Amino acid sequence: MQAEKPKEKHEATHDVRDVRRTTCCVVGGGPGGAVLSLLLARAGIEVTLLEAHPDFDREFRGDTLHPSVMEIMDQLGLAERLLQLRHTEARSFTLQTVSGPFTPVDFSRLDTKYPYITVMPQTSFLEFITGEAKRYPNFRLVMGARVRELVEEEGVVRGVRYESEDGWYEVRAILTVGADGRGSRVRRLAGFEPVKTSPPMDVLWFKLPREEGDPEGLIGRFGRGHIAVMLDRHDYWQAGYVIPKGTYPELRREGVESLHRGFAELIPEFADRIEHLKDWQQASLLSVESSICSRWYKPGLLLIGDAAHVMSPVAGVGINYAIQDAVAASNVLSGPLKESQKRLVDLDVRYLAATQRRRELATRFIQRFQALIQQQVLAPALHSSTPFAPPLFLRFLLRVPVLRNIPSRIVAFGIWPVRVRK
Ligand SMILES: Cc1cc2nc3c(=O)[nH]c(=O)nc-3n(C[C@H](O)[C@H](O)[C@H](O)COP(=O)(O)OP(=O)(O)OC[C@H]3O[C@@H](n4cnc5c(N)ncnc54)[C@H](O)[C@@H]3O)c2cc1C
Repeated sequence: MQAEKPKEKHEATHDVRDVRRTTCCVVGGGPGGAVLSLLLARAGIEVTLLEAHPDFDREFRGDTLHPSVMEIMDQLGLAERLLQLRHTEARSFTLQTVSGPFTPVDFSRLDTKYPYITVMPQTSFLEFITGEAKRYPNFRLVMGARVRELVEEEGVVRGVRYESEDGWYEVRAILTVGADGRGSRVRRLAGFEPVKTSPPMDVLWFKLPREEGDPEGLIGRFGRGHIAVMLDRHDYWQAGYVIPKGTYPELRREGVESLHRGFAELIPEFADRIEHLKDWQQASLLSVESSICSRWYKPGLLLIGDAAHVMSPVAGVGINYAIQDAVAASNVLSGPLKESQKRLVDLDVRYLAATQRRRELATRFIQRFQALIQQQVLAPALHSSTPFAPPLFLRFLLRVPVLRNIPSRIVAFGIWPVRVRK
């Protein structure tokens, strides 16, 4: 009997209902993938965006658009319409300390048209961006498309296979972009292993009711072994309770009353409202991670956003960095992709390397900044039973007029802003 020939990587292991060709196949309709798809579609490139979920509905995900993102939206002529959607604005971040209020970040001092964080449900943002992209006939969005396999031929990624409600499909593309988030399947299939560091905390997210007369914007409190943040969401507060890494099982064993006590100690004016959290099902645990891949590309494939680098939640910059990656990728790749589309040739891998170079330094820099805040501010606050006092270096920085905008600038823009190339 003749032995069965082993299947090559590019051969489908399932019955594929349909094979479509495009120029760029983007996997993942999060902020990074959605913005990249819009930018490429605007540039006249054939784009297919594949999103695993049937809709964009998300709870307790990043809902913050930093000044850099709003400037990008402005460059695209979309900022004013985006700001017509329901949102709140957080202009500064103030902590209560032993010596009174302490404001390490104040965007209102920055020279920008958008001196605030726009807090908007990620669902609204993604629907808005993909709605814009749909105006271009060269854009195709497939919801409920769970990418399972890469199509690879002789070391070059030629597209993906995805499973949907009614079976398997194949998309063949000159470039495949993995924008499929922190647990990226594309990254795993491509054989990339991110280098991880372990931030010292995890975060529990839950909702608390808002009442008339409540303050607006952001509230942050540190001290006595806990940290709490509250984000104003119009109809409710999105509350974050920061706990030392790995201590969630212990907290659960102690019972939800232990969380009530810790939270009420930090924000006594919300002591009655924390009672609304009655069981753990109402809370969502974010296991905090920080990582970066040493390589973000291989022939025919690029990773962007959380797929290339998972960000710690310090300063809430995950969306910011995913969108800046998308803009940098579009700036570098639009021209070469158009050429490849016209002449039906492969994309030179040097353009993918150039995309990583544009973003890697800025990403490593902000991750270092986050690690510094974690070590110098968050870890001491989580492991001390005394009230929080800001570290000396931060107090010094904020007192010197020429230096005091540095933390706000870093949070708003990173080391340099990314602009959409005309
Ligand atoms: C609880 C929580 C709170 C956060 N809070 C903030 C915050 O306040 N501010 C902030 O800036 N960031 C925050 N972040 C981080 C932020 O959400 C991410 O950094 C950001 O969304 C990354 O964008 P992305 O486009 O790279 O990936 P994601 O937003 O993760 O998008 C990836 C997309 O890919 C899809 N996908 C996954 N696998 C597949 C597949 N196999 N096939 C097809 N599609 C697939 C997913 O469904 C998803 O839509 C938070 C994250 C969490 C978990």
